[in-house]
Amino acid sequence: MTSRISRLVATSAAAALATLGVTVANPAPASAAMTICYNTSQAGSFAGIAGQAASIWNNATTNLTLSANCGSNLRIYQITGGGSYAIRTSLGNGRVYIDTQQAQQYSPLRIMTHEIGHILGLPDNYNGNCAILMSGGSAGTSCTNPYPSTTEANRVSNLFAGTRVAERTTGETGSAVFRDSWPAVAATVG
Ligand SMILES: [Zn+2]
Repeated sequence: MTSRISRLVATSAAAALATLGVTVANPAPASAAMTICYNTSQAGSFAGIAGQAASIWNNATTNLTLSANCGSNLRIYQITGGGSYAIRTSLGNGRVYIDTQQAQQYSPLRIMTHEIGHILGLPDNYNGNCAILMSGGSAGTSCTNPYPSTTEANRVSNLFAGTRVAERTTGETGSAVFRDSWPAVAATVG
């Protein structure tokens, strides 16, 4: 009788935990993907482009997920003049500013994925190569590639996997401001 009651109690407890969504048997994974909540409430006409950029990063990387309007790790702003830039407060956290005027000269999606790339730990790499996302405006206004290279994407995945702990703690991927990634284009005379 006692053992039967114990079994009933145990069964009930398991059912209750299952109802709560608690998994008893399986331990949590060693490193869960980090969710980066981006907020587009002040992104104006660039909110949709922010969503496209988030999808590009999510498809290209592992260990992190950019998710819309679940919080504000990353705030995206629409500005006019002064140039697009990014302020990283820490890896995966910060603010991105997209200049409306610049987005009429350069691909707005390339600007967006590039600036988010800074938030995800990447530095500028002005080598003029359009295949490199972090080459920014050095690849010219005709370059519309919004995709990180495999090397760039893998570096971000590694940063968020925690395999580059030394770099994370020495500040290389910590707080920084990234300006002037998109050179001003001479106005057409006439
Ligand atoms: Zn840049």
